[in-house]
Amino acid sequence: MEQKELTIDDILASFKVQPSSEGKRLVQRAFAFANTAHDGQKRASGIPYIQHCLATAQILAEMGMDARTVSAGLMHDVPEDTPETLTTISKEFGEDIAQMIDGITKLGKIKLRHSQEDYMLENWRRMFLAMASDIRTVIIKLADRLHNLRTLEHLPPDKQQRIAHETMEIYIPIANRLGIGEIYGQMGDLCFKYLDPKNYEYTRQVGEKRYKEAEKYIERAIKTITNGLKEEGIKVIDIHGRAKFLYSLFIKLKKHDMEISRVYDLAAIRIIVPEIVDCYEALGIIHKRYRPMVGRIKDYISLPKPNGYQSLHTTIFGPEGRVLEVQIRTQKMHDEAEFGIAAHWLYEENKKTWKDYFSRKKPEPQQSAEIAWVKQLQEWQNDVGNDSQEFMEGLKIDFLKNHIFAFTPKGDVIELPEEATPIDFAYAIHSEIGDKTTGAKVNAKMVALDYTIRNGDMIEILIDKNRQTPNQSWLTFAKTRSARSHIRQTLKKKSETRQ
Ligand code: MN
Repeated sequence: MEQKELTIDDILASFKVQPSSEGKRLVQRAFAFANTAHDGQKRASGIPYIQHCLATAQILAEMGMDARTVSAGLMHDVPEDTPETLTTISKEFGEDIAQMIDGITKLGKIKLRHSQEDYMLENWRRMFLAMASDIRTVIIKLADRLHNLRTLEHLPPDKQQRIAHETMEIYIPIANRLGIGEIYGQMGDLCFKYLDPKNYEYTRQVGEKRYKEAEKYIERAIKTITNGLKEEGIKVIDIHGRAKFLYSLFIKLKKHDMEISRVYDLAAIRIIVPEIVDCYEALGIIHKRYRPMVGRIKDYISLPKPNGYQSLHTTIFGPEGRVLEVQIRTQKMHDEAEFGIAAHWLYEENKKTWKDYFSRKKPEPQQSAEIAWVKQLQEWQNDVGNDSQEFMEGLKIDFLKNHIFAFTPKGDVIELPEEATPIDFAYAIHSEIGDKTTGAKVNAKMVALDYTIRNGDMIEILIDKNRQTPNQSWLTFAKTRSARSHIRQTLKKKSETRQ
């Protein structure tokens, strides 16, 4: 993967949004500083150490991160691995950049504990702390880890296993939760290769053979469909084929008894159009020309996937009568699918577009939810001092489970982790509603209180105004940290007043 050595010009050319001349100077200064500090050091592969810093910075620039974050990426290993100190960085580059680097250094300093489990727990605790104080730190850490995985072949096998395992356990769920599909996908494939080499090789071979067959067809289909859309006056920003990541192909294969002919979305084309209305119009035009497959039209724009993903998906009997998956989305949806929370920085650069987006008539739930999520994490930051296992488990469920959106009868959106129940929903509205719950209706039908809520459910909580106490048994199925702690607290108060 790493054939040629990177230069600082490569990094400057990789910015998704060109930085100001001031920003460019900052990046160049950061490079010069890191380059001198790491002078003479080499990576396990034998290449100069600075190549790792440049590669990390390049991943960040491609994601749409700004000049300051990219500069911090360039210097991320300086305090840990060189004689230069954080104090010097703070003097030369300011407190903001110094603090990001301090955060990364702290993340790296985890002492090996007596058990693997303790080690993971401590690792998790630090990641949560870092996320709460500055999410950019975690994004730099993800870029750092991605490059370390790309060069894992140079490390001894036991280290390869440890790093791949730790990535699967911690970094991949975090990348997924932050919606950074590119990093999530690439990390998944790299870990797959080291943790399950046999299945990796099998999937790669099966996949490659099919892709080659599909590639030529995709090229022809893209031409035909582009012309069709042009004739109808649809502006297409981009149209391209996309290949599935190998690890997600493997998961699909397992679902279909390893039968590749049953994986319909192995090859797909992706159409990027300017506006949301264009998405629906393009879908209509495509369906007019090519018969869609029943049950495979998905509107993830009206109802986003649990992690906020938005697009229209359809599977059609395309040009030449062959089955083809088509995905349609706007540029913004595309950036967010690939770069997730990092896309916020990208759109921050262009305030107008960003604000326009917010002022659109309908609030887009995953947007506000993403911001609310970071805020909530910050509020909980103090609690993290308590590192009991149960507390950490609760955090992991609340934050790393994929999230779903449920609606109140008035149409308000409540965000919950997957597998949440009506009790979690009730406590998410208000703790008093939770305490007084007697039953629940989902989409107008009565359900048990341990019902598993699905994305898009409309939930009505039935309450008894005179009821004061939650039921002890709710603790066996309530999922969210807030519901569980409220139930416990109220029960405790009750038993104390009785005595
Ligand atoms: Mn590093």
